[in-house]
Amino acid sequence: MAETTVKKLADIVGTPVDTLLKQMGEAGLPHGTAEDTVSDEQKQVLLSFLRKSHGSADAEPQKITLKRKSTSTIKTTGASGKAKTVAVEVRKKRTYVKRSVIEDQERERQEQERLEQERLEAEAAARKAEEDARRKAEEDAIAKREAERLAAEGAAAPATDGAAASAAAADKKAEDKSKRLTVPKSTKKAEAPPKDETPEERAKREEEERRKREAEEARRKQEAEARKKAEEEAARRTAEEAQRMAAELEKRGQQEPKETTEEVETGSGIVTEALEASWRDEERTTKRRRRRPAAQARNVVAHGQMKSSFHKEHGFKSPTEKMVYEVEVPETITVADLSQRMNIKAREVMRTLMKMGEMATVNQHIDQETAMLLVEEMGHKPVASKGEEASLEADLADLVQYTDEPMPRAPVVTIMGHVDHGKTSLLDYIRKAKVADGEAGGITQHIGAYHVETEKGMISFLDTPGHAAFTAMRARGAQATDIVVIVVAADDGVMPQTEEAINHAKAAGVPLIIAVNKMDKESADPDRVKNDLSQLGIISEEWGGDHQFQYVSAHSGMGVDDLLDAILLQAEVLELKAVPEGPARGIVIESRIEKGRGPVTSVLIQEGRLQVGDMVLAGAHYGRNRAMSDENGKPIQSAGPSIPVEILGLNGAPESGEQFMVVADEKKAREVAEFRQIRDRDLKLKRAQASKLENLFETMGEKDASQVNIVLKTDVRGSLEALLGALRELNTDEVKVNVVTAGVGAINESDVNLAMTSQGVLLGFNVRADSAAKRLCEREGIDLRYYSIIYELIDDVKKAMSGLLEPERREEIVGVADVRDVFRSSKFGAVAGCMVIEGTLRRNLPIRVLRDDVVVFEGQLESLRRFKEDVPEVRNGMECGLAVKSYNDVKAGDKIEVFEVRVVERTL
Ligand code: GDP
Ligand code: MG
Repeated sequence: MAETTVKKLADIVGTPVDTLLKQMGEAGLPHGTAEDTVSDEQKQVLLSFLRKSHGSADAEPQKITLKRKSTSTIKTTGASGKAKTVAVEVRKKRTYVKRSVIEDQERERQEQERLEQERLEAEAAARKAEEDARRKAEEDAIAKREAERLAAEGAAAPATDGAAASAAAADKKAEDKSKRLTVPKSTKKAEAPPKDETPEERAKREEEERRKREAEEARRKQEAEARKKAEEEAARRTAEEAQRMAAELEKRGQQEPKETTEEVETGSGIVTEALEASWRDEERTTKRRRRRPAAQARNVVAHGQMKSSFHKEHGFKSPTEKMVYEVEVPETITVADLSQRMNIKAREVMRTLMKMGEMATVNQHIDQETAMLLVEEMGHKPVASKGEEASLEADLADLVQYTDEPMPRAPVVTIMGHVDHGKTSLLDYIRKAKVADGEAGGITQHIGAYHVETEKGMISFLDTPGHAAFTAMRARGAQATDIVVIVVAADDGVMPQTEEAINHAKAAGVPLIIAVNKMDKESADPDRVKNDLSQLGIISEEWGGDHQFQYVSAHSGMGVDDLLDAILLQAEVLELKAVPEGPARGIVIESRIEKGRGPVTSVLIQEGRLQVGDMVLAGAHYGRNRAMSDENGKPIQSAGPSIPVEILGLNGAPESGEQFMVVADEKKAREVAEFRQIRDRDLKLKRAQASKLENLFETMGEKDASQVNIVLKTDVRGSLEALLGALRELNTDEVKVNVVTAGVGAINESDVNLAMTSQGVLLGFNVRADSAAKRLCEREGIDLRYYSIIYELIDDVKKAMSGLLEPERREEIVGVADVRDVFRSSKFGAVAGCMVIEGTLRRNLPIRVLRDDVVVFEGQLESLRRFKEDVPEVRNGMECGLAVKSYNDVKAGDKIEVFEVRVVERTL
């Protein structure tokens, strides 16, 4: 690695150039500008300087203080239902110190103590020696003076010299000793004894020194022992503490956390206190928040976090007692609403729903039943709310009070049976009308209501369609009626819709009368009908059962009077009664929107009297009865029980089967109608969501299922319903029918627009497009189709769907030849001499070479010859020679199969 500049180095280590230069200056390097070069040695110098100033890079830190502050938020729904956020802050502080460092410090401290002790001792010794020396000097001085005195008194002079020398020595010794004060004890042993000591004196001094040393040693030992004891005591206490904590933790069912032995907690007491306080705060907020599983779950997590840092018992306890709410559950409710009512997080509710096998999103409506189960599942008490509607209905019921006595009324009879068994014809005969002849395709496509005055009394009839698509209509017919007449053609016997009609009647609990029709026919076999019906539990009175069987002919009129007698007899048994006067009440049979007249609703009055001008509430619609007519279109002013009428003036087409009633108060009528509209919309939304979800699962993994988009308009509600049902049944795995929009009334511009945007088919059943829509269709080239027969419409949709189906590739074997011999040709390679054993070989069709019935090659023929002449085909039983293109391995015994691929457009 060569030299670099300061700038580059700064780049490499990621420090600003200025900082680096400053550091280099501090390290004693001469660099002053960014462009100065830095050698490897200089780098080393800088590195070692930095290490020194920061501590070695790889040296472990001696003390680390960790402060942690974690903030989390808990989202909760308050009692008021408003979402709020509670912030939770947890602060932790922990200090880690290396034990070795503490030990080092301790050792240093001891060492210093010891040194200090020694210093004091040495001082004391020095003082003592000084004292000794001084005393000695004094003694010497006294001796000297004595000697001088003696000398003065004639003693020898040398003695004075000796004394002076001795005094000088004593001075020196004192000086030495004072010097020794600053010298470490190691020099102490080298202490020279005073030279002028007498042996006794030295022995005495040495003895004294030894004693001193011994005493000091003993003291030091004592000290060490005491220290050791203190240490042991501390260790024991720590161990005890640890044991106690471990036991405590175990008691809480928690594992003692693994911690390094070098860990020392400092200030944990304070921190713990602070933390406990914060937890107490937390508890308070939690309490305020009330019982809430999600919050509990969060607290458990927090609890877990805590155990790793603190073993102390904290003040928090998850709330134990659970609030049980009485939850009001309306007919439909969104998951969000329901979760709010239970004070539970929507997520939780959804999870529980999922466990119950129901998928729902937050804004999805779930029905009352599911909601009730869910509420129970979540530990609350569900209360089915009858809702606003119930109270509204109750109010309505209160409005209608009948004062009159109920009077006998005419029976309402529904004619049911399989298609073409003669229901309409029979009714026509009874009514002396010719409805059946006027019907498109000769089939009844909506419910017809007629009342007939017979010589024996009045009967109201409901004619129902026999086609499979009209199940709902038949069910409705059975519900609105007093007696059901099942028409069975004597020549045809019991058919699927016969059986279905019987089931509807049974389900509605309505008495049955069997009319065996077409008795004028030669092929009529009433016994077979009786037999078939007995299988269904309908046993004729002749056979000891309790069902009336009437044998009739709608053509000749045979037995029709008997049938009417039977009906009236049955009606008498039923003792049918109704209040003839008062506000009318009944059922909507059918409704449609007519151009120029608006919604036309046919209703069957069941109670009271309907007058022109009455305020009528029918299902989700209401309006004043502007005009009323009987089933023949004759205007009437009023109609009583069991009479079917058509009324004008409602603000929309109510659904068939809805209840209708006269409400004196217009405001009330509007209120209820509007409420029902909202309810219906909710229900529809719910259904749409459900089906969407269903579709989601259905189409999973097969997303390229094609669909035919349809915009459908019909004349009446009943037909619409029937058609929708029939279209739904056309769905296959490959093609789906998607009804973009469907409704009653003429085709208008918005329908055309919808068909256009969805690239759908525009279908009108017994309705036509208005002129604006027609123009739009012409301009945009939209295919507009009119129908008057349900089958034709359905067949056409089928065709449209077939068009979408991918054509099927069908393979047909055209001919097979047996290879008898193979010879080589210079031009074609292997040439097979064959015998055609099946069909015809054709030169231009694809072939397969089969060996033991296994395909070994697939390709084309190179040539096909008969007697050296190229031929286009060779028929069965003829011999030929052929060569296979780019395949030279044909063997005797192989079979050559000529096939053809035909593309067949599929129909449903
Ligand atoms: P619906 O579908 O049950 O209403 O049957 P229709 O009333 O439309 O009649 C179907 C066909 O059966 C029509 O062609 C009628 O002419 C015929 N038909 C109905 N009743 C009789 C009957 O009593 N005798 C004979 N021979 N034909 C009948
Ligand atoms: Mg009919």
